[in-house]
Amino acid sequence: MSETKQFDVVVVGSGPAGIGAAFASARAGVNTLLVEKNSVLGGQMTSGLVTGFHGMRVHEGFISKGVGSILMDDRHTSVVVKGLALEIMNRLADKQAAYTVKDDPPMRIEYDPEALIPVLFEMADEYGLHLMLNSFVFGLEKKGDKISFLKVANKSGEVHIKANVFIDASADGDLIEWAGEEFEKGDALSHRCMPLSIYQVIGNVDLQKTLDYFRAHPQDLHISTVDRWQQMYDKGAPIALMGLRDLVQKAVQNGDYPIPLGTSTSVPYPIFDIQTSFLPKGFVKLLVDMAYGIDITNADELSKAEIDMRKNQVPGIFSFMKKYVPGFENAYMLYTSNLIGTRESRRLKGIYTIVKDDVLENRKFDDVVARSGRAMNVHSSGGGDLNQERGGQQWIEAPIPIGFDIPYRALLPKTVKNLITSGRCISVDRDALGSIRGEPVCMAIGEAAGVAGALSTILQVGCKDVPIKELQLQLKKYNVVL
Ligand SMILES: Cc1cc2nc3c(=O)[nH]c(=O)nc-3n(C[C@H](O)[C@H](O)[C@H](O)COP(=O)(O)OP(=O)(O)OC[C@H]3O[C@@H](n4cnc5c(N)ncnc54)[C@H](O)[C@@H]3O)c2cc1C
Repeated sequence: MSETKQFDVVVVGSGPAGIGAAFASARAGVNTLLVEKNSVLGGQMTSGLVTGFHGMRVHEGFISKGVGSILMDDRHTSVVVKGLALEIMNRLADKQAAYTVKDDPPMRIEYDPEALIPVLFEMADEYGLHLMLNSFVFGLEKKGDKISFLKVANKSGEVHIKANVFIDASADGDLIEWAGEEFEKGDALSHRCMPLSIYQVIGNVDLQKTLDYFRAHPQDLHISTVDRWQQMYDKGAPIALMGLRDLVQKAVQNGDYPIPLGTSTSVPYPIFDIQTSFLPKGFVKLLVDMAYGIDITNADELSKAEIDMRKNQVPGIFSFMKKYVPGFENAYMLYTSNLIGTRESRRLKGIYTIVKDDVLENRKFDDVVARSGRAMNVHSSGGGDLNQERGGQQWIEAPIPIGFDIPYRALLPKTVKNLITSGRCISVDRDALGSIRGEPVCMAIGEAAGVAGALSTILQVGCKDVPIKELQLQLKKYNVVL
């Protein structure tokens, strides 16, 4: 026997996209449920340890505005994301849990993920949002061109959730496929996706020694200069040291480097990203692209990749760090992210698809509901065939970077009337995904999806028929940048 529950709006997934959607919908006064398979809210922001909230401002200057300027303390371009994203960062700032200035955020905000967990639960309470944790949405039933209910599995058994509006913030576009909507996945030819990663938090690191290594080997530091990082390090600002290609190459030659699983072309030399983030001195987070070209919507493939990463790659990479990287000789591993880091899977083929040229040309749309100015960051799916020297990842920013509009139509499927998408599964091409997948932008998209879902319920119209002027008015009321 299955239990049935009824809500106005149901949001699947509590990453930045689901948080934005669920908070905005509940804040508008409609009966809203957020379903999450993990035990805490936040998705990659908490369980994934992706704690660099990147994209509050327009991305200008990966190269042009001075090396390192995309990072951590740069406040020279205009803010494109405010609304709930700014509200959450301000709340973290109040608790001294984020490297930011209240109401004047940098391009990238480093924050404490443990501090974010209670903040999100507090806000859910304030807005009267219903939560269903440890619950996996595994299917749905449709009647005509509408979803009638979602199927959820949890400790109670099978639960059916009815609603007026369903918001897919699962990142992987689960509802998109189950509702029979068109989607794309990965690159156009192979349909393989960007690589997976697992964050490692490492203690007892002498980072000054690592900085000294980069000073002596500047060619092995890929972004910014050691002087710039040293300056930031000395004032206690977060830094991110990306590179180590030479040392990795040496380890590969010595047979000491773990081979990434799923590499369809040559093995790339991944870029190593040593981040101090919001951790105390002596601790770092390490980010490395690990499993290439995995289709994470295939359960067997995902399991195989996760086992390989946790059994072979994480320990292998850690022993490489200890053996080869100055400053890591006496390091120890504290913990790893429990949610595997996934950058790409299904993308809706919606009423409108945001394309690379929309980003490059800063296009504007009448039905704008959010904005982005983040450069397009695409990692190689095969490994090594894209821009080798950056470990198979590229960053492309618009020639005149002022940001671009995200139109409401890119959140809407072509046929199902009561479904809205949010976050990295909206209708975008692969390059544009590289821009919108930043956490603040996903949250802004979510905020728009949530307000639209609430208006659809209040005005009793299909999602496609939500009056755009009213939607924009409501968003602006909540400090959203349009
Ligand atoms: C390794 C890595 C590094 C990154 N670096 C940065 C960075 O530095 N800065 C930045 O801004 N962005 C970064 N990103 C991108 C960013 O983290 C993601 O694009 C963003 O989190 C996507 O938001 P989302 O809400 O769509 O999905 P997610 O954050 O992935 O959240 C999806 C949520 O849905 C839940 N869920 C999924 N399916 C179901 C289901 N069927 N039933 C119930 N719950 C479900 C998941 O448990 C999860 O909580 C990075 C991503 C990765 C993987």
